[in-house]
Amino acid sequence: MSDDEVRLLKKQGTLKLEQADHMIENVIGTVGMPLGVAVNFLINGKDYLIPMALEEPSVVAAASNAAKMVRERGGFKAESTEPLMIGLVQIVDVKNTTKAKADITVKKGELIQLANQQDPVLVKLGGGAKEIEVKVLDTSTGPMLVVHLIVNVLDAMGANAVNTMCEAIAPKIEQITRGKARMKIISNLAALRLARAEAVFPKDVIGGEEVVEGIVQSYALAAADPYRCATHNKGVMNGVIAIALATGNDSRALEAGAHSFAAMKGKYQPLTTWKRTKDGDLFGRIEIPVPVGIIGGATASNPTAKVCLKILGVKSARELGEVMACVGLANNFAAMRAIVAEGIQRGHMRLHARNIAIMAGATADLADRVAEQMVKEKRIRVDRAKEILEKLTKK
Ligand code: NAD
Repeated sequence: MSDDEVRLLKKQGTLKLEQADHMIENVIGTVGMPLGVAVNFLINGKDYLIPMALEEPSVVAAASNAAKMVRERGGFKAESTEPLMIGLVQIVDVKNTTKAKADITVKKGELIQLANQQDPVLVKLGGGAKEIEVKVLDTSTGPMLVVHLIVNVLDAMGANAVNTMCEAIAPKIEQITRGKARMKIISNLAALRLARAEAVFPKDVIGGEEVVEGIVQSYALAAADPYRCATHNKGVMNGVIAIALATGNDSRALEAGAHSFAAMKGKYQPLTTWKRTKDGDLFGRIEIPVPVGIIGGATASNPTAKVCLKILGVKSARELGEVMACVGLANNFAAMRAIVAEGIQRGHMRLHARNIAIMAGATADLADRVAEQMVKEKRIRVDRAKEILEKLTKK
């Protein structure tokens, strides 16, 4: 690498190299990402500013714009379940799985107690292991047992807490079943930790009956065709993951949870539903797993994440999940509306043109002029950006 490239990597951002080095291994730098704030969000009667970290143009604007549209009908209504995460203990080599299942059920109380001894802090605050369920599965390597440990993780994402508990109860389950414990790990299908949100988008504000009909038909396509559904749900995750990154949450856990939840009924389905109300307005609803925390993990070690949580002003992990659901619903709506009403590229490419200009080598002050010219010509391409740039710099 050149000296300039090395200097670039060593440059200190808001996350200091020393802090980063404690977070992961073999650290050589940190990656910067734009952090924006979406506005206009009114959720359960409370105003929110939404910090969003992402590289994609127009997502923050789209969320803000959608939130503005639902404000006049009282904003978003959101709710959530208790923050229950599921840990798995896999038991193989069990001779009599039916008997083993019954034996575990009898010893449920003891196992829950043992799990809770691992996290007195969580238990003292009202959380901890609450329930045990046992399944017998027929698999490609033969029958096996899987024990689900259900834990209320309160304001943590919960992976460390649950994994520790699973590892602690595994030897006891081996004793009970005379089998062998293999996997002892959290499930990212957080199907018991759901946030739900809904909103009415008034037809006159969103562009009339045609737009309402177009969005309902777009939803129908997503429900019928996984090729559309993947992009439908990606629109939801634009908002959800941007908040996760801003607040130091585990975006992989959210993605894994959302998409496996979407496929839970045996067919990959939209995370949102959309219909026309009897007044002709558009009604949207979302239900999504939210394995997120406001304490622990990177929310504690990344200083920017802490500031973002302060901007957001959420008091619990549940409230954070509810906000994520609302922003996911807003971004899903905005993407469908843009496609149905004017084609996604009109709004998107205007912002994208600036990135193309920078890719072509334009400095920040010239990028806007190059982008403007490309949009006017409807030719948003790197080769064209280079030509325009050449002309501008020759002058
Ligand atoms: P953590 O272990 O850092 O913090 C959780 C602990 O904080 C609890 O166990 C409890 O003892 C304590 N605590 C104090 N106040 C609390 C409160 N109000 N509510 C809840 N707990 C409170 O964090 P974690 O959430 O258990 O683990 C999250 C990390 O685990 C993330 O960084 C994630 O990336 C990582 N991880 C994820 C997976 C996965 O499959 N998704 C697997 C392993 C690790």
